[in-house]
Amino acid sequence: LFGNEEHKIVIVGLDNAGKTTILYQFLMNEVVHTSPTIGSNVEEVVWRNIHFIMWDLGGQQSLRAAWSTYYTNTEFVIVVIDSTDKERLTIIREELYKMLAHEELSKAGVLIYANKQDLKGSMTASEISRQLDLTSIKKQQWHIQSCCALTGEGLYQGLEWIVSRLK
Ligand code: GDP
Repeated sequence: LFGNEEHKIVIVGLDNAGKTTILYQFLMNEVVHTSPTIGSNVEEVVWRNIHFIMWDLGGQQSLRAAWSTYYTNTEFVIVVIDSTDKERLTIIREELYKMLAHEELSKAGVLIYANKQDLKGSMTASEISRQLDLTSIKKQQWHIQSCCALTGEGLYQGLEWIVSRLK
């Protein structure tokens, strides 16, 4: 992951899921280059040789035609979920399967962060896994990890899974 090759990771999730917090936990104490906003809900951060493309899945209908541009050469997709947000889990589910149907992502690894585990009433990783029907994902390798982005708990276990899958 930290060699000379370039890697591309796409981070997706609804607004308020914790994407920015997670990214900045990874990038702590590092100088990062943020490119000028590509679109209203797409952002790119480059750190060492890893390109992180971050998407808000809310209200992006109009941008969908451009998705494949961003997916090309993506090695991993990180899906960040606010585990207290039960109402919008169906939206995540819908967007997740639409995304995984893209040819460009047929070989990508999928890491799901069940974030905000510190909050009362948060769904467990296995509950989210069941609701999203993750076992039905056959093409891609996937992994779900509970975490708390505020403290960083669980984040590196997730990254370790990614590192273990790097070709
Ligand atoms: P984004 O819209 O997905 O980029 O979400 P942000 O990273 O901006 O986080 C949205 C809000 O949730 C912020 O107020 C964060 O401080 C908060 N947040 C993120 N992760 C956690 C967490 O693990 N636990 C708690 N309690 N709050 C979190």
